[in-house]
Order: sequence, then structure tokens, then C-alpha cells
Amino acid sequence: MKPYQNLLSVLLCAVSLFLVGCNQHTLFKNGTSDYSIVIAPEAPESEQYAAVELQKWIAQVSGVQLPITDLEGGQKNKRLIVGYNPITEKLVPSAEKPADRDDSFTWCNKNGDILMWGGSKRGTLYSVYSFLEKELDCRWYSSKASVAPKRDTWHFSKLYNHEEPSLMIRDNCVLDVRVNPVFSARMRNNFIKVPSLKEGGTIDGSAEGYWGVHAMGYFVSPNEYYASHPEYFSLIDGKRQSDYAQLCLSNPEVLKICIEKMKKKMRDEPDFLIYSMEQNDNTRPCQCEACQALVKKYGGESGIMVWFVNQVADAVKDEFPDKFVGTFAYQYTRHAPKDIVPRENVVIRLCSIECCMIHDYDGCEQNESFVKDLNDWSAIAPHLYIWDYVTDFSLYCLPTPNWKTLQTHLQDYVNGHAIGILEEGDYQTPSCEFREMRAWLLSKLMWNCNANVDSLIQDFTEGYYGAAAPKIREYLDMEERILRREGMHTNCYASTAHPMYSDEFIREGRRIMAEARAAVADNPELLKRVEKEELPLCLLQMDHSPLEGIQQGADTMFCRVIQQEGIHQMTEFYPAINAESYKQSFEKIARDIKEAPKFRAIDAEKFSNSKMENGVHYVRYEGDFKNTVQMMLRDSISSGTMPNITIDEDPESDHFGYHFYAWLKIEEEGVHLFRITSDDGARLYIDGREVINIDGSHSTQTASGLTNLEKGFHLFDLYYFEDHEGQTLSVEFSSPNGYKGPLPDDRIFLFPKK
Ligand SMILES: [Zn+2]
Ligand SMILES: [Zn+2]
Repeated sequence: MKPYQNLLSVLLCAVSLFLVGCNQHTLFKNGTSDYSIVIAPEAPESEQYAAVELQKWIAQVSGVQLPITDLEGGQKNKRLIVGYNPITEKLVPSAEKPADRDDSFTWCNKNGDILMWGGSKRGTLYSVYSFLEKELDCRWYSSKASVAPKRDTWHFSKLYNHEEPSLMIRDNCVLDVRVNPVFSARMRNNFIKVPSLKEGGTIDGSAEGYWGVHAMGYFVSPNEYYASHPEYFSLIDGKRQSDYAQLCLSNPEVLKICIEKMKKKMRDEPDFLIYSMEQNDNTRPCQCEACQALVKKYGGESGIMVWFVNQVADAVKDEFPDKFVGTFAYQYTRHAPKDIVPRENVVIRLCSIECCMIHDYDGCEQNESFVKDLNDWSAIAPHLYIWDYVTDFSLYCLPTPNWKTLQTHLQDYVNGHAIGILEEGDYQTPSCEFREMRAWLLSKLMWNCNANVDSLIQDFTEGYYGAAAPKIREYLDMEERILRREGMHTNCYASTAHPMYSDEFIREGRRIMAEARAAVADNPELLKRVEKEELPLCLLQMDHSPLEGIQQGADTMFCRVIQQEGIHQMTEFYPAINAESYKQSFEKIARDIKEAPKFRAIDAEKFSNSKMENGVHYVRYEGDFKNTVQMMLRDSISSGTMPNITIDEDPESDHFGYHFYAWLKIEEEGVHLFRITSDDGARLYIDGREVINIDGSHSTQTASGLTNLEKGFHLFDLYYFEDHEGQTLSVEFSSPNGYKGPLPDDRIFLFPKK
């Protein structure tokens, strides 16, 4: 840049500052303000509530509580005008009165007056929250973590903001939002009613979304109908079945009942927009001839479903012209039908349960069929609604690196003309990985699917984790780098054994988290927030490398966090696997390490003067045995030595077994962990004492055992057998010096030759 250009910019700056200065207004200064909050006397409850929220948060920022008055009150040019009312009409004549359920909003100023308005259900309230966020930097990161930065003064000259949501119905189905309606409204989640200022009153969401789920079983329940009318239910393998089954949709009586009950539901509970007429939660549709003829006619199971639901929709249309009948495109009905389209008043709720969560829909081979279904439905369905899955339901806390795809998936839904979305997260328990950030980000993206995710993550981490923010972001980058390596995919049912949870990931994660903790060590509240995010790493480390886990306090941190956070449930469906059961198993490991019996070493070299050679002896068996004891009662087929333990070279694929034995050289005294993964059974003995027993005929199982070994040589005996189908055997070994991996070739020795 040339010098005069520099000078020009400085001059332009000065001129614009001068112009701004001319029109500058002061909302508050040094704990005082001339402003009032103005609402219409007949303002709906949600706008009265909005005024109180505005008053409350401005007070927190400025230290001054503005009065709330009616339209006659307040000094002109010093008013915060909340809601669309005669003042709005006068000051902004171009603004049209928004529809009640319109969530879009505007805020702007006319000289010194600031106006905030939108639809009367929620729009005005969202306008207030948006003003507080964008202009006064207020944040609601979770139901418990709000930020209202203190300011001495706040000036403004030109304000204008108008926003419209990407989706009409935004249901963020995570626990913190579900059970905290006030927070839910601040997140612009319009699915949940909020208690109003009136005792016992409520403020509607603008779209009181969806009544029911899997409602067919509720309308035609087996209890009510199966005994008298088994023909209402699925014909499966020649028998009418009500247990874990669907309805016989081609039966006209079933349709009649569904129509009658749907009408009654709409009359009795008129507050909803969409009413579920959805299949039960199983994949056993009716196989009767009439049903299957319709399946064939309309190109699949979704065809008969749409055929059925269309008739219900037609029957309720005249009485309930503003309501929708909703049905699933889920599991066996996920593919779109042919030669039939859903009616105008039908909503198709498409479920992404099978999808890979960590890749864009375009480009991941595991998502190809979903992309086709999304496109096909979006071409024929007048209204699409998505049921999306954003966490791990096998174990809620497992790391799920979908920070980028939360957005791209949402964008694809919006581009596919979705009107609403249910983001299913940790709806049962506060144990999901980065649950607050995931919930916050999802809410922001449901509102604006094109928002900048990096900026949002920056905003959240700085505001929520304070000085640990850079380290938390480093951790998220590391997740991105390691967990999303080539070839890794995951749907919402990953387990701790998923290959993406490598030892490298766990070690790297704990290293970064230790630095994150150190950064906030002097702030107990922030430290708690950071420790909470280490919970999945602690659990994975205890699962993969318990010796290392105990050494690094993974067990104690896990126990502390579940207590602090009140975490009990950890999986969606298996109540027996919970925080307490993990705690008990970690305590047992800690106890076992402490009490591991000490095995004395044998000085093997003294048996022989010859040099010892590396390797392992084997004795091989064949036969139809059901455990290793039966195997050992047989005569062996062959014997010999090999460099290390393996069954990969065996000529048979069924009905064989091995006894492996060797001297194991221990170089440092202390607790060692052995881990055997086998299909079928295996037993491990060290110095003649049983350490692991997973004998018997079974699919792949893993078990570990702890021994306290003296330095020197120990007798290693492993018995293994393969019954039928798959076979596998691996032996892993962890030593006190941090080694973890297969038994090293140079630590096992053949018996000295005589
Ligand atoms: Zn049938
Ligand atoms: Zn993938």
C-alpha cells in the first residue's frame, strides 16, 4: 500500500467515526439508564416473558433494572419496544405483522428506540435472545452455564438484524434441553413448552411438533384386540402374531380403527401439529397375501404404509385442515415407494439410524443407500421430517467425532426440504461426550444450518472451558485426525472395541486433557467441566490397558466424574451396564493389582549349560471337543516348535486345538497383565496357576488376568481349542514398564535341550 492510501483510510475512518458519533445513543452508563422496556398491554404471555428476560439479562450486564411499561410509558427515543404493536407499525411502517407461529424475527433501532419483534408465539422472544447474544454478548451454553459479561456502558447508533430459521420444527432431543424448558427456549428449540410468568401457565413452542411415536401399536394394541381379532396383526410364518410385530394394514377394520382413534386423539389433544401413525419398533411386517400384493404394487413396504396412512390423512383432512399425519421411513420402510406419493397432509419421518455419523452423506460408501432414500423421498414427499442420531447409543460417552457432519448432514436435510428435525442425543442421561457443546452446536445449526461451525466451537470452548479452551480444541483436532482415519466409519452403535479407539488415541487424548486440566487447575468449576470430558478416555483406557489406566488414575477420575455429574445410566438399552457396574469393575481391577499373587521366578538357565533359544513349543490335537480338558484327554496329532503363538497356519478350520508352552522371561518385577482373545475356548496358566479361563465353545471373547511376577523365567502354558465356525487366538501382554502388545518373540524361550 502506498503512503497516501494509508492516509486516506485514516481519514475515512475518522469521518465515519464522526458520523457514528453524531447518532450515538447510550442504553446504559455506570449503572444508570433512561431506558424503559415497552410492551402492549394485551401482549401475549410469551412477549411478557420476553420483556422480563430482556430486563433480567440487561440488569446482569449493566447493573441497572429497566422498568417495564405499557405503550404510553417510557421516554420517546429511549425505549426497548418488545413485540409487534402500534409503535412498531408507526416507527417501521414497512414491517408486516408476522404470523403467530412465525419464528423469524427482526430487531433494529429508529433513532434512540430499539424494536424487537417476531411471531407472537416465539419470534419476539427469539428476537430478544438474539439481541442479547449479538449486542451484549450474553450466552447460554447450558442450563447451568450462562454468561452475561459486565459492562459499564453500551452505545449504539445503527442496529439491524433479521433472521429466519432453517427448519420450522427444531427438536433437540438431549437431556439438558428436554428437562430444562427455559434453556430450551433460549436455544430456540420450539418443541417444548415453557412455564410462563403466570402461576401454572405455559408458553407454547411455535410448533408443538409431534404427538407420539410408533403409535400404531397404541391405536391397535394387542391387549385390546389380539384375543378377539388376531387377523388385525402381522401374519408371520403362517401365524398371526402380535408380539414384536406390525399390523395387517390391508385389513379394512384396522384402517377404520386407526381413523376413529386418530380423530379422537386430534380432538382430545389438539395442541400438536403432527400426529404419529407410525409402525411399531420392529421389522416384522405382515406377510399375508393382501398386504404383500400392496407391497408389490407400490414398490416395497413403504408403499403399503403410504397407501394406509394416506387414507387416514384423507379421513381427518376436513375436520383438521391444519394438522398432519406423520409416518416413518424407518428400517424396513426406509426406501421410498413407487407409483404412490404421500398426501399433502402427510409428513414422512425419515430415520438416519443406519448411517455413518462421521462422514458427509456424499462420499461415504456406507451412506450411499441413505442418500438415495433421502433424494427419493424428498422428490415425492410434500413434507419431510428427519429423525437424526448424533451420539453413541451403545455407550453414550464414547467419542463421536461428528463435529463437521452435524452441519453437513443438517444441510442435506434442509436441501431435501425437511420441515423439521429431531436430533436424538443423550436423552436419558447426562453422559454423552461433550454433551453441552454438542447440544449447543446442534441448536445453533438447527436454527441456521449454514452458521460457521469453527466460530461456534471457538465461541463455546472459550466461554465454557476458559483457559483450557485451546487445549480442548487441540483435543478435538486430534479426534478429527486419529478417529476419522481412512477406512474408519461409525454409526450410532460403536463399542469400546471399535478400531478407531486405538491406544494412540487414548494416550494422546489423556496427554492433551492433562494439559487442559493444568490450565484451569485454579478454577474448580472449570476444572470439573474439563475433567468431565476425560471420562470417555478413562473408560477406554481402563477397558484397553487397565494397568496403565490404574497407574494414571483413570479409575479414580472416572469414579469422581460420575459422582460429580450424577451419571448412572450409560447405555440406551442395557441397564445392567451402568456407571456403578463400571465403577465396581474398575475397583476390582485396582484390588486385583494390589493383591495379585506373587509368582517366584525359576532360574531356567541352570537346567542347562546350552544357550537358550527363542520360540514356543506346541502340541496339536484334532477332534470334536467342547473344552480344553476334553482336548487334553485325546492323543495328540503332532508336536513341534514355532517362533510365537499362532493358529493362523493350521490346515483345519474346525475341530482342532493346541497346547502351547514356553519359558517367559520377565525383565522387571511387578504386576503384568495378560489378555487373551479367543474363539473358541482358552485357558492360560503361569507357573502352573490359572490366570485366565475362557474355556468352552463360544464366539470371540476377551479376558484378562493379572499376575505379580518376579524377575526371571516363568512357565507359560496356554490351552486353546476351536470347535466350529470362526476361529481366532491372540495373546497380549502388558508389563509394568509400559509395554503393551503381543508377547514379544524375544521374551519367550524353548525348553533347554537335554
Ligand atoms: Zn396383512
Ligand atoms: Zn463413513
